[in-house]
Amino acid sequence: MTEHIIELIYLVASALFILALKWMNTPATARRGILAGEIGMVLAIGGTLLQHGIVDYKCIAIALVIGSGIGVPLGLVQMTAVPQRTALSHAFGAFCVTLVGTAEFYLRTPNVQPFMMSVLCVEVILGGLTVTGSLMAAGKLQEVLPQRPITYKGQNFVNLALLASTAVIAIYLVRNPGATHLYPVMVGIALIVGVMLVIPIGGADMPTVISLLNSYAGLSAAAMGFVLNNKLLIVAGALDGSSGFILSVIMSKAMNRSFTNVVFGAFGQVAAAAAGAQEARPVKSASPEEAAGILAAASKVVIVPGYGMAVAQAQHKVRELYDALTKRGIDVRFAIHPVAGRMPGHMNVLLAEADVPYDRLMEMDDINGDFPQTDVSLIIGANDVTNPAAKTDQSSPIYGMPVLDVEKSHTVMVIKRSMNPGFAGIDNPLYYMDQTLMLFGDAKVFVSNIVKELSNTHG
Ligand code: NAP
Repeated sequence: MTEHIIELIYLVASALFILALKWMNTPATARRGILAGEIGMVLAIGGTLLQHGIVDYKCIAIALVIGSGIGVPLGLVQMTAVPQRTALSHAFGAFCVTLVGTAEFYLRTPNVQPFMMSVLCVEVILGGLTVTGSLMAAGKLQEVLPQRPITYKGQNFVNLALLASTAVIAIYLVRNPGATHLYPVMVGIALIVGVMLVIPIGGADMPTVISLLNSYAGLSAAAMGFVLNNKLLIVAGALDGSSGFILSVIMSKAMNRSFTNVVFGAFGQVAAAAAGAQEARPVKSASPEEAAGILAAASKVVIVPGYGMAVAQAQHKVRELYDALTKRGIDVRFAIHPVAGRMPGHMNVLLAEADVPYDRLMEMDDINGDFPQTDVSLIIGANDVTNPAAKTDQSSPIYGMPVLDVEKSHTVMVIKRSMNPGFAGIDNPLYYMDQTLMLFGDAKVFVSNIVKELSNTHG
């Protein structure tokens, strides 16, 4: 009887996970998606706790308290730290998968069927490399490890050889399930591979790598589902594995990078070299008063948010600016680049938090054609996603990356603190163009000064 109830709970949880992914596709239903995912996870845990096989609820209770003690503070990090927080979650998940796989191996060996041994090996190899790979990615993003790619001659060969050696050991274990001495060697190499795979990848590519590691963590969890004969784990792992993979492809496309280029390209190095070659050129700057005057005289304004808006936590002030301008009858929309900020959907989340109406957020492809009819493009802490060099300069490391055509608008105003480059580490020719005005300052402070000026001069 209990078995049937557990199966039913797992079925509902699987459906909720699928709906969660579907609803998270658009900002309007994203909150519902999160809720569905949370309820699904509570059901999954609850259903698992009903299993007959559970020996000791006391240990589980202690683990739950420790897990919550780590999870709650992790959930409270700043939005800008979410990529590294996500990487840590993958590391924990993969660590759990590897530990379970290891326990199952030693419990079952030498009586393990070939199919079971192969999925067990896939589980711990993917799990092991995800643990260390995710820790490296989190360390790089948190800047406790050097962000620049570390490369050496023959690196890809060494990495592939290491990976191949885990596969060879796995095949040997499938044929000789009693060869327990080889198991720790296989897991050890997988852990080393995780480190080796991530060190040649630069900081700018790290979010893509994290979503790829997400995919590995999902696949290893699906393999664990086969080992434990748990259908929910298979479904959830497959969803995680495929959605992580699709997300990595979307992010690579938005940056005009191929997968192999991200994984083997050492992107950050090229960018650093390009940045060093720049020389100082004059730019025009303006004060908040002047910026407010230009905005007040416009009839169509497009706001382009980027990573700097997130750092400055300026989204609420941006909402006030939106209100002040729309009150004056000005048409204000937001241009959202798919990789603005540091994670997919970063800008949507921040603007939703500030209650900016969803129908004012336009995706890049939908708004790019409207820039020639735009009076003012106000760029708030965005840089790379507006860089016209991506369209014209074949030597640029971001050449080919789709960007927002802001330079086509009549006036471009850019809020940032200095002439420092963005994440790709390269200069932006937009800043030296005739129609561009630089508004130097912190995004939150500058936007709030513009709002003050607008309220002093009623339209
Ligand atoms: P960006 O190119 O990194 O530029 C952000 C700009 O914000 C910087 O130039 C910085 O200039 C400014 N800034 C920082 N703090 C600020 C503050 N407090 N107030 C005002 N300005 C501030 O950002 P982006 O245009 O959003 O582009 C995102 C980059 O991340 C792209 O290169 C993209 O490929 C990469 N990336 C994104 C994702 C994703 O999923 N979103 C994934 C992988 C890679 P100052 O220092 O002069 O202020």
